[in-house]
Amino acid sequence: MAETNPDKAPEVIFLPWEKRDRLDSLIERSAFPSSISKGEYLAIKMHFGERGGDGHVKPEFIRPFIRAAKSKKAKPFLTDTCTIYHGPRNNAVEHLMVAAEHGFSLNRLQIPVIIADGLLGDEHREIPIPGKHFSKVKIATGITNADRMLVISHFKGHVLTGFGGAIKNIGMGCGSRKGKFEMHSSAAPKVTSQKCVGCGMCIPTCAQSALKLSDGKIELDKKLCAGCGECIIACHTAALSITWNEETKNVQERIVEYALGAVKDIPAYYFNFVCHITPNCDCTGIREKPIAADVGILASEDPVAIDAASLELVVQNSGDVFKKAHPELDCSLQLEYAKKIGLGSRKYKLVEL
Ligand code: SF4
Ligand code: SF4
Repeated sequence: MAETNPDKAPEVIFLPWEKRDRLDSLIERSAFPSSISKGEYLAIKMHFGERGGDGHVKPEFIRPFIRAAKSKKAKPFLTDTCTIYHGPRNNAVEHLMVAAEHGFSLNRLQIPVIIADGLLGDEHREIPIPGKHFSKVKIATGITNADRMLVISHFKGHVLTGFGGAIKNIGMGCGSRKGKFEMHSSAAPKVTSQKCVGCGMCIPTCAQSALKLSDGKIELDKKLCAGCGECIIACHTAALSITWNEETKNVQERIVEYALGAVKDIPAYYFNFVCHITPNCDCTGIREKPIAADVGILASEDPVAIDAASLELVVQNSGDVFKKAHPELDCSLQLEYAKKIGLGSRKYKLVEL
């Protein structure tokens, strides 16, 4: 975990998007290559994209990181965890197939892809943390058994947290499926029956089988709902929407506590790709139009500083697009809570390449 010295704001190195062909220089300038040791297992934590979606960081951007790791004779592997929603990435077999379809495979990148929480997403280690919501968090063993983590995140909007970047990638992204259930809100979506056209598009997105049609209108079983929000993204008439209450704040705090556990015992370095900034995350499997101009690629040893800098650069360039996309969400909440529990610093020193 990054040490936070209040007198010395962590450095965030910024490569503008128009200079993205100089990614090698950004990697060289960062502390990432010098931190790698010979023979260590390096987990490159990323998101391989959902089938049908195109927002994820593309394989050609991963090659320079792999070259850097191999030049230090480390043992890098690409990794992510199983999802809780219905879809191909909720088990390792289909997750690996989707990853390969998107160019993340041993054949294409010459390093293995490992689903960190195993075949069915139930392989984790409990890591003790001093949290408000959790005293221990369930982190995937493919992460906890690694010697080091390189966290490569696509910075974009998110239906439950406003934006998703490095904190979300290590928080939600390093938890096993059981961990993900713990993190999600227990608040079921709000149903506005008058807006439901009975298309049924939301039903297959629900891993909990909490939705069914009755007389052409959607019905939600609140006892079954895990509050994952996937059906909300699938519904294009806004018949399903987030129930705004204390739970929506709590879900952000729970993700931050998982992030704290994920990097408690393992050193990590972070790169954010602030480009193709869509309103929702890469789990949707929908090709969404960007809501902001491309910004660039950022690097830091502090997950909070890199997300704070990414957010501020997006807002500087394009206005408060995440507030516009998710008006009820306070994007700063995850940053503030992350600072409060010692995950990192909201202050940073931006160094442009
Ligand atoms: S929010 Fe609830 S009803 Fe909607 S997909 Fe998730 S578990 Fe199912
Ligand atoms: S809630 Fe939305 S997605 Fe589900 S059936 Fe109704 S209109 Fe379709």
